[in-house]
Amino acid sequence: MDAFASLGQLARALNHGDFSSVELAQEHLARIEASNPTLNSFITVSAEHALTQAAAADERIAAGTAGPLTGLPLAHKDIFCTDGIRTSCGSRMLDNWIAPYDATLVARLNDAGMVTLGKTNMDEFAMGSSNENSYYGPVLNPWDPTRVPGGSSGGSAAALAAGLVPIATGTDTGGSIRQPAAFCGVCGLKPSYGRVSRYGMVAFASSLDAGGPLARDVADLARLMPLIAGFDPRDSTSSEQPVDRLEALALNLDESAAMLPPGLTIGLPEEYFADLDGALAVCLDQARATLEKLGARCVDVSLPHTAAAIPTYYVIASAEASTNLSRYDGARFGHRCAHPTNLDDLYQRSRSEGFGREVKRRILTGTYTLSVGYYDAYYVKAQRVRRLIRDDFLRVFEDVDLLLAPTAPNPAFPLDQLLADPIRMYQQDAFTVPASLAGIPALAVPCGMIDGLPVGLQLMGPHFSEVELLEAGMAFQTETDWHQQHPEATG
Ligand code: GLN
Repeated sequence: MDAFASLGQLARALNHGDFSSVELAQEHLARIEASNPTLNSFITVSAEHALTQAAAADERIAAGTAGPLTGLPLAHKDIFCTDGIRTSCGSRMLDNWIAPYDATLVARLNDAGMVTLGKTNMDEFAMGSSNENSYYGPVLNPWDPTRVPGGSSGGSAAALAAGLVPIATGTDTGGSIRQPAAFCGVCGLKPSYGRVSRYGMVAFASSLDAGGPLARDVADLARLMPLIAGFDPRDSTSSEQPVDRLEALALNLDESAAMLPPGLTIGLPEEYFADLDGALAVCLDQARATLEKLGARCVDVSLPHTAAAIPTYYVIASAEASTNLSRYDGARFGHRCAHPTNLDDLYQRSRSEGFGREVKRRILTGTYTLSVGYYDAYYVKAQRVRRLIRDDFLRVFEDVDLLLAPTAPNPAFPLDQLLADPIRMYQQDAFTVPASLAGIPALAVPCGMIDGLPVGLQLMGPHFSEVELLEAGMAFQTETDWHQQHPEATG
């Protein structure tokens, strides 16, 4: 069995009877067990649960009641609640916490017959761009174990790059699906805000959080999307936008014949290219040429408020995090300090012990910007700038169908390099936070290598244009083979 077989290839082989779902799960579990002491891409491996699910899937396949992805293995970022399997969110606060229910995304994939191999490593509460903020230690980048895999969905991206899983889930609040995908040479889709239910996804910044898939090719993202997208009455901001076009795309996938829609216009926002590193600029130039060869018309455009996106994001995301994380008080669930002397002591010590440095930084800055006297100067102002950033996108999408940009400003950086410098760490998110603030979908796709490290392009589209993004990404992959290159050492 090829460790780098796509979900589509595995689905065909499974339905053809080349192997059973149990055999498929066993093989993947063995690879995960072998790699995890070094790569550290999994926080929890759920072998027993997986084999039970796989046996049930084999029965469904034999009975002829299987769906297209029944029996195929996957991993969930450890931010999604899984009934019976611990959900740590990368934090000591939730170490050993077992959710009493499944996130909607997890429940839907379980119902589809998919097999959960385990829960992937991540920055604590999804705060970070390097996976170094995990209570369970950093994940290594399979392309170069001295480097970070990106974050916060670093475990999912690294597991894919190392051939440990054919598909994985992630969340993206300001880039956490796209940036690790780019650093690990895999693909990731941040859907439109509201497209995928947030129910059972541990909350970071509720107005930005988006669940979505990571995979080794875009067609596999398209296979998963219709299963996880769609209205959920249990998420108050879930969108009622129909998912029929996503369903049709997944049903009629012919990735080798993918084409760009005729007359597609792609904008290149000048603010994303202004100070771009030379080697990365060459990769993006080649990507532009490939898209033009496929029939796209590329034009330069401007998104004038781009430079304000990082400060705006860090004010809003931290403010929302400070309120969301107030629920971890040592009383109801999560870490509780030993022998509290009174209620204040319980709160203070439980939170001091349970949260790591970056999470504390966000709670403190978020609380500050929401406090009386500073609220208007920071939080209200950030909301206004957020609107300007969104309006930039809405205006530009009157003239172009999609936008092409880099995903991250550089390839994966060395472990420890940015850890002591939060501002430089936050600058990693310069190209991903604008789409998050606007709530628009964005796709990361491998588009080159710099000194042996993968880099990714980013395609952004108007709200609910996931189908257009996936089609463009698949067309790009008919002309390129970056997604078919894999690291030599796989952990
Ligand atoms: N790197 C960003 C942050 O630290 C984005 C994280 C995310 O998307 N979850 O907030």
